[in-house]
Amino acid sequence: MAENCSAKGCKINVPAGLAAEHLCVMHFTLFIENECAEMRRETALGNTNHERQMEFITKISGRGEALVHVATSGFPMSDELKARVLSTLLTLMNTRENMDRAAMRQSALRRFVG
Ligand SMILES: [Zn+2]
Repeated sequence: MAENCSAKGCKINVPAGLAAEHLCVMHFTLFIENECAEMRRETALGNTNHERQMEFITKISGRGEALVHVATSGFPMSDELKARVLSTLLTLMNTRENMDRAAMRQSALRRFVG
């Protein structure tokens, strides 16, 4: 018996691949988008410490894997939902890229100043 999404007011079934997250595909993508926005905010200045950065990198690839896994598992999805999955993957990729860029800018600046 499939479990229902834990998001408020949502009665959609949780796909097997997201059982640990207790979210339907749509709410999982929204959850990831929120996480990415937070990670971007925190890393925008490029002064995030290495440990925290590694934590974010691990999180980003973990979310990406979970999303791709569900999307390719044969779970039925509307075209709209497929588009959402793709745009969330793009958000994950851009968040990772922005983080790397901010860190690079900061280390270049440190070299320049120091
Ligand atoms: Zn839901």
